[in-house]
Amino acid sequence: MSDQQFIAYMEAFQAAIEHAAACEPCQNDQPCAAGDPIHADFCAKQDAWEDRQRRERRNERRRAKRRADSRFRIARHAAWQLVTYGRWENGRPAATDEDVIRAADAMYGGYLKSGPITRSEAATALAAVLGN
Ligand SMILES: [Zn+2]
Repeated sequence: MSDQQFIAYMEAFQAAIEHAAACEPCQNDQPCAAGDPIHADFCAKQDAWEDRQRRERRNERRRAKRRADSRFRIARHAAWQLVTYGRWENGRPAATDEDVIRAADAMYGGYLKSGPITRSEAATALAAVLGN
């Protein structure tokens, strides 16, 4: 992504403060004919920049949510495999968080671009499969 937009915003900011520094009406909130478009340009570029920042934060939150959902499904599938086909001891599945991490890596390693399943994700997945 180009930061031409940020540069334009900063240039407009610079132009607005330079004009205001030399212009008494503009300093007194009575924009002159020359200052008016300079201030309007600065406000428009600031709005555009802030809109973009908001959009990017929203998109980043959505991506993080999708990533977390996808990692949860992977961990849950690994936990389900272990509980369904793995060893049981004393009426309970013997699978541990570490087993879930290893199984998820074996089954989906290539899809786990943000790193192996964590202990906490594995524990959540095991609990979901066991209905806890
Ligand atoms: Zn002015």
